[in-house]
Amino acid sequence: MNYITTIGLEVHVQLKTESKMFCACPVMYGAEPNENTCPTCLGLPGALPVLNGGAIEKTILAGIMLDCETPPVSKWDRKNYFYPDMPKNYQISQFDLPLCIGGGVSLYDHCYPKDFQKSIMSSGKVVGLTRIHLEEDVAKSTHSESGTTIDFNRAGTPLMEIVSEPEIDSPEEAFAYLNSLRQVLIYGDLSDADMEKGQMRCDVNVSVRPPDQDELGVKIELKNMWIFNFDFLGFFAILRDFGSILGSPGPSKNS
Ligand SMILES: [Zn+2]
Repeated sequence: MNYITTIGLEVHVQLKTESKMFCACPVMYGAEPNENTCPTCLGLPGALPVLNGGAIEKTILAGIMLDCETPPVSKWDRKNYFYPDMPKNYQISQFDLPLCIGGGVSLYDHCYPKDFQKSIMSSGKVVGLTRIHLEEDVAKSTHSESGTTIDFNRAGTPLMEIVSEPEIDSPEEAFAYLNSLRQVLIYGDLSDADMEKGQMRCDVNVSVRPPDQDELGVKIELKNMWIFNFDFLGFFAILRDFGSILGSPGPSKNS
């Protein structure tokens, strides 16, 4: 039986700004560990965050380029969690009033895998967006046999999150979505979107279901995939092979 695949993507993009989201530390790839830090991005008591207006402008510009609404009122929220890469124990993010709402990503024909371009099912498809919001990135943990080290150079850098609707129907469309989105980000000078440097990473939500079933199948969430070392097509092909398990009827449960 052929199963229907449904994919939603949450893409995290490091914005191309000179300084961090809430302090004046430079955003720079390849600096010595913990070189670009200050009391604010180290989460020290008494530090006072100051908003980076350039990051807001770039996020709004992303919203305009992707045909989103940009509401006049937006706000910040605390997302609490306990983890060594975020010593103040909360991340500054946006919950119910994000900077951009709706919109969509047009899937350009040339952004599909080359051997698939002659058999595109729905040329000109637009994948809807739920929202775009802004948050601060966390520090980078490196685990080894002797222990874990933490580099705070990345802590507090502006991170834009672009959330799609579950409207991506195949691995090839997911590939085209990411490629098309990357081109918009680079064209607008919003990000270098260099996947090898982790400037564009994504969470994948995928489910498969039998053709005669309306409700989505069991949703699998995969967090923080670095796209450059990630074989999307191979990965989703494997998921489709397991469709008989994942697409079994019954209430969806996350795994
Ligand atoms: Zn700082």
